[in-house]
Amino acid sequence: MPDSVLEAPLQLKPANYVAGKWKPARSGRTYEKRNPARPTEIVGEFPASGEEDVNAAVEGAAKAFAGWSATPAARRAAVLMSAADVIDSRVEEIAADMTREMGKPLREARLEAARAAAIFRFFAGEAWRPKGEMFEQSMTGSTLYTVRRPLGVVGLITPWNFPAAIPAWKTAPALVYGNTVVLKVAQDAPLTGLHLAAALEEGGVPDGVLNLIIGRGSDVGTPLIRHPKVAAISFTGSVAVGHLVRDEATPLGKRVQLELGGHNPLIVMADADLARAVEAAYAGAFWSAGQKCTATRRIYVQATLYDEFRRRFLERIEGGKVGDPADPETEVGPLVNEHQLKDVLEAIERGKRDGGKVVVGGERVDEDAYLVAPTLFEDVADDAMLSREEVFGPVASLYRFHTLDEALERANAVEYGLSASIFTTNLATAQRFVNELEAGVLHVNSQTAGADVHVPFGGIKRSGFGPHEQGRAALEFYTEVVTVYQDA
Ligand code: NAP
Ligand code: MG
Repeated sequence: MPDSVLEAPLQLKPANYVAGKWKPARSGRTYEKRNPARPTEIVGEFPASGEEDVNAAVEGAAKAFAGWSATPAARRAAVLMSAADVIDSRVEEIAADMTREMGKPLREARLEAARAAAIFRFFAGEAWRPKGEMFEQSMTGSTLYTVRRPLGVVGLITPWNFPAAIPAWKTAPALVYGNTVVLKVAQDAPLTGLHLAAALEEGGVPDGVLNLIIGRGSDVGTPLIRHPKVAAISFTGSVAVGHLVRDEATPLGKRVQLELGGHNPLIVMADADLARAVEAAYAGAFWSAGQKCTATRRIYVQATLYDEFRRRFLERIEGGKVGDPADPETEVGPLVNEHQLKDVLEAIERGKRDGGKVVVGGERVDEDAYLVAPTLFEDVADDAMLSREEVFGPVASLYRFHTLDEALERANAVEYGLSASIFTTNLATAQRFVNELEAGVLHVNSQTAGADVHVPFGGIKRSGFGPHEQGRAALEFYTEVVTVYQDA
């Protein structure tokens, strides 16, 4: 690609990308997206798409499938590599737009935008991996092998909270393994989705191979799930919607993958490196205003360290920078929208009514921005709502424990199983945590959030359904295995 193209100012069209064309919703309807840090500021007007837009996208994807799946994997990979270069050249623009539309602090938005490029590159590399295994037939010694094939058209439904990384880690494996895609991004983060589609277009993705639809979940998601030409649905979002999606799609014979919420514990042993544990608790609970599926919700501290941890943690909260997410120093920005703000404030009130004590925070701290102060609870009962249900905001609870057995048991006493951390300098303690903690992603001496691109990511228990995402695990979901008995 000539440098002049990369340097030209980007003109994103606030439109769907369907069969290689940028198009408004067929109905002509649009919606306004506002900046959660300044709700009077309109970020843009985007298509409020519906069934006919989904149908056009699925038809486009179905038509493109034969050509794309027959394209050598290395050529498919080349498209991802070019798109990664485009994303890298626009990290600042993508990050600024992400911050403006969904309020992620710029420092984290930059990392996420760059991560999308890394995800594209990782999956481009996967194109060179074997697609099957070779055997011989037991009776004759003739050729016997397995081959992995793409599924067809896949529907991808993504949330607003990682608007670059999650669409990227679904789209990249889907494409590199030869599927065609209809991607529905969240209404709260259309711009970031548009950047990804634009990067793929500029990277040379053929018409119809990648389709992007913007619109409300029920209006776009439902027809996508029901469309007979959609072979599989990969969904990331809440448990409630995820289960709805699964229950709708599985009777129709579709393959389903769900990545859902979490209620992630952090265990701090008395032998922990206190400074690192405090930092991890802060980052895990409050960065991105706690709007991560892997955010720390419960912090268990061993009794002899409890008071000291509490004191240092409160100091850290006091010193943390809360405010405008566009300021690169800001650690905690706003909640994504007014609805989430209301939900989080209500959950805090409920937490108090249930007997929890607010140690710090607990309220909105700006008249305009949907900003809630980092909030720490104490004295929350193990069976109270705050100990069990995901509150998608900067709210965490502190618990005192005595023995490792007790900590592991209480950490596991939720229906979720996404991520978990322990801070300890004792190897045997770490090993017991690794053996016994019920979660899909475990951290020893690091925070509960964070996901490398080249290893599987996903939850167990109620946090997930179907094969995990990312790394080599993605092959499981986006391909099917065929066994071939081949005699001469
Ligand atoms: P959500 O409300 O479940 O929405 C997720 C996606 O589903 C959005 O695109 C949404 O569309 C769409 N949707 C809504 N109703 C639908 C329906 N009836 N049929 C089909 N699609 C529908 O979740 P969210 O509030 O965006 O995200 C936060 C949740 O995601 C949290 O629970 C978090 O823990 C979870 N999450 C999990 C992971 C993970 O990997 N495990 C990662 C990140 C987030 P619109 O919003 O555009 O209407
Ligand atoms: Mg939602």
